[in-house]
Amino acid sequence: MAFLKESEHSFRDDLSNIDEKGKRKWIFPTKPKGKFTRARYWLSYFYFALFFGLPFLRIHGKPVLLFNIPEGKFIIFGAIFWPQDFFIFGLIMVAAILAIALFTMAYGRIFCGWICPQTIFLESLFRRIEYLIDGDAARQRWLRKQAWTPKKAGKRILKHSLFLLISLLIANTFLAYIIGTAALFELMTEPIAQHLGGFMAILVFTGVFYGVFAFLRELVCTNICPYGRLQSVLLDKDSIVVAYDYKRGEPKAKFRKVQGDAGDCIDCDQCVKVCPTGIDIRNGTQLECVNCTACIDACDAMMKNINRPLGLIRYDSENNIAEGKKSTFSPKLKAYTAALLAIIMGIAVLLFNSENVDGSIIRSAGMLYQERGTDSISNLYNIKFINKTFDQFDLTLQLEDRQGTIAMVGKQEITMKPESQGASNFFIVLPRSALQNRKEKLKVGVYQNGKLVLYLKTTFLGPMPQRS
Ligand code: SF4
Ligand code: SF4
Repeated sequence: MAFLKESEHSFRDDLSNIDEKGKRKWIFPTKPKGKFTRARYWLSYFYFALFFGLPFLRIHGKPVLLFNIPEGKFIIFGAIFWPQDFFIFGLIMVAAILAIALFTMAYGRIFCGWICPQTIFLESLFRRIEYLIDGDAARQRWLRKQAWTPKKAGKRILKHSLFLLISLLIANTFLAYIIGTAALFELMTEPIAQHLGGFMAILVFTGVFYGVFAFLRELVCTNICPYGRLQSVLLDKDSIVVAYDYKRGEPKAKFRKVQGDAGDCIDCDQCVKVCPTGIDIRNGTQLECVNCTACIDACDAMMKNINRPLGLIRYDSENNIAEGKKSTFSPKLKAYTAALLAIIMGIAVLLFNSENVDGSIIRSAGMLYQERGTDSISNLYNIKFINKTFDQFDLTLQLEDRQGTIAMVGKQEITMKPESQGASNFFIVLPRSALQNRKEKLKVGVYQNGKLVLYLKTTFLGPMPQRS
């Protein structure tokens, strides 16, 4: 791309947020305005309500989401997952990584701009508080250079107190997802000495969130986040990205009315000024771009002012722009989207089809078989169950698909307390005539209130069958 040559040296060799001496250059993005910014603010209100509200929502008296890592118990939309279910999590992790890779190949960094909590909290909450207290970019720059005055100190104290308070709120909510709201309430109301671990966790989380949103900011996206680093291998020329239409925009000229052959870009630099990572999107797709769309809004406003079509910067693929094509849902994009939907459905099936009861049967160690009268043989078994629900119920066993009976040792039913494990012993008794081999495979049905909830498989040992 010929137009890039001139600027290639500067944008490839320098980082937008580091000066010549290698020191952090603070970025003061101009407050964005426009339809994309408005849409993201509205979406962020929904996310905030979800994030701060979900720990308080209950299904059958239990949290909708709980990731209790210390106790190895997870609740996702009311379904409990125990350490025994971790293979499901393993599969979900693999599927999720695949889904993220496919999503990025197709839609670039849309996740960063529209879903990632880092962008949502920073751009829709912390940055807006900053604009409110310190003013827009020029005012912030000016304030930073000023000597300390009571007014500046007051603004700084107010801003950072609010940042700390919100970070504390986020930290508490975050912890509520791990230990639950009841435990969090205890932690907040009881003496610190009784909850030293929890108290330390809140301090650490608060410090991390405050550090990230007040100081680290775009460095998280440009230097720390592994997903951001993966972009260079995941994106291709068909991926949808925030892109500058250089075919339409070049050659850029400040006085396009005078220069009749100039492109639509009037080199106003508004797209650079609003960029929270400080880059110039006209240099092409860059790792630093978090797809926040601020430059789209800024450029659309300029296009409106000079009476040119909107979308000089827009969501599009590099190939579409190079070929001057209208944005299309290409076959490649369709294939990626179909694969992505299949993976998401697979994850949903795994999550919502997990059994409420899980169990295993093993034949009692050290015992072969017992003769029962002249015509029957029995084996002794141990059975273990996990009740993954919050309800108490009884389980009964039944031998499936063959002649024979099950004789429980003790009570006929196995009573399962909520979120607990249960065990029992039982005999399977088979008539000699039903034994074809020394070792037979059997299927035991587990019934809850007369309804089959689980099949368990086991083996039955008998004497060598008499061959006639
Ligand atoms: S280039 Fe545009 S979309 Fe990318 S981070 Fe900067 S302002 Fe946001
Ligand atoms: S905002 Fe649009 S017109 Fe202004 S410099 Fe950026 S691309 Fe060019």
